[in-house]
Amino acid sequence: MTLQRIPPPSMEAMLYHAQMEGVLPLTSQCNMGCIFCSNAYNPETCEVFSIPPRPLSDIEATILWLTGSRGPIVIGESITRINEGEPLTHPEFAAILELLREHYPDRIIRVTTNASLLTHDLIKRLSDLDVELMVSLNTVGHRERIMGDKEPEKTLRNVEALGGKVRFEGSIVALPFLTGWEDVRDTAKFLKDSGAWSIRMMAPGFSRYHPLSKYAAEFKLDEAREVARDLQKTLKIPVLFEPPGITTITPEVEYVLPRSPARRAGLRPGDVITHVLRRPVMTRKEAFERIRDHAKPQVVYNREGGIYETVINKHRFQPSGLVMYDDLDTEAWFEWELKSRVKRRRVLVLTSELAKPIIEHALEVRNLEARVEAVPSLFFGGNIGAAGLLTVRDFLAKYEQIGGSGYEPDVVTLPKRAFDPWGRDLEGISYRSFEQISGKPVVLA
Ligand code: SF4
Repeated sequence: MTLQRIPPPSMEAMLYHAQMEGVLPLTSQCNMGCIFCSNAYNPETCEVFSIPPRPLSDIEATILWLTGSRGPIVIGESITRINEGEPLTHPEFAAILELLREHYPDRIIRVTTNASLLTHDLIKRLSDLDVELMVSLNTVGHRERIMGDKEPEKTLRNVEALGGKVRFEGSIVALPFLTGWEDVRDTAKFLKDSGAWSIRMMAPGFSRYHPLSKYAAEFKLDEAREVARDLQKTLKIPVLFEPPGITTITPEVEYVLPRSPARRAGLRPGDVITHVLRRPVMTRKEAFERIRDHAKPQVVYNREGGIYETVINKHRFQPSGLVMYDDLDTEAWFEWELKSRVKRRRVLVLTSELAKPIIEHALEVRNLEARVEAVPSLFFGGNIGAAGLLTVRDFLAKYEQIGGSGYEPDVVTLPKRAFDPWGRDLEGISYRSFEQISGKPVVLA
């Protein structure tokens, strides 16, 4: 099949959309060379863009675009197609943060960093400006081999120096087949002892082009989730594993931070939030965000069948101390119900294996019917399975296979996150090509 690639939009248009989503790209430069870096070993036709450090004047001129989003302002996390490197390599990093804080006194500003370039002065400025960090530490014992860190001792000292000054989370890409689980445990313990309030542990993702993809099959998700649960129990801080393996949209609390507003309000892990500000909530994401975005939110929750009510005494946008997994965006779900006309039409939803049970549960909660199918990634191969990394080729291959069984939908839903704001997938192919080839209308959601 011939699929027409559409040329990418201008960098200015991409930056505009990234900032409207709350993402502030600074630079694609990085001072490390992690063997698991998602910026490497992509298929040849995969569309990702690298940028040099953006001038301060450019950032100043576009800073108002960040008003388009409500959540945190995110720096250094690869969410869009612009490669995010190490933000601290930007020569004007501190000045950019000052500028941001001046414009957005109330917003959470979160920077992902490998911590190697932190200095005493910078830590003080981060603290004064109330900037949060996500420290990608990954390993304490194999830093040079895994990340290319030439001064591992210095990086570890930098992380220790954050304690009590800067609010930070730690992240670990778990590579037990290279470092052993012992190093993963030591790294988690080091982060906790250095003052991290939470740890994100992630499964590595390797495309078939990656030299380490042969290890992907060796990585057992269940075993990794068990290690994370065990660490959470022993370290007494949240240790969240990604992908989490959740199969429902039930707004269940995963963890409540000690001495937090939510803890003082009496909430506990396992509580299911049913209403926030007297309105029902359907998903974890909805509950979490409504609580985050309001001052003194009134919350109704279910604990072992009993219904209770409380008020979380906090400011608007102040973290409540609740820790919950991310699942479904309720607003986007209701928009999808309207657009797909799922009540009256036969709808086929093509998504990732991980999202399938969550969508099926949402359908059940809403008393709706649709066929949900998991699509494997042929484009990346390896163990890549996120919905945002699926392509039109992958969707068409699955659709062809389903068509063989005689099933014919009225409309097909594809994951919106697999496409850029112009409807192009990671190869630059529009979802409209799927419509043309399959003969079915598509709704993105
Ligand atoms: S620190 Fe981050 S951006 Fe740099 S090489 Fe490692 S994973 Fe990639």
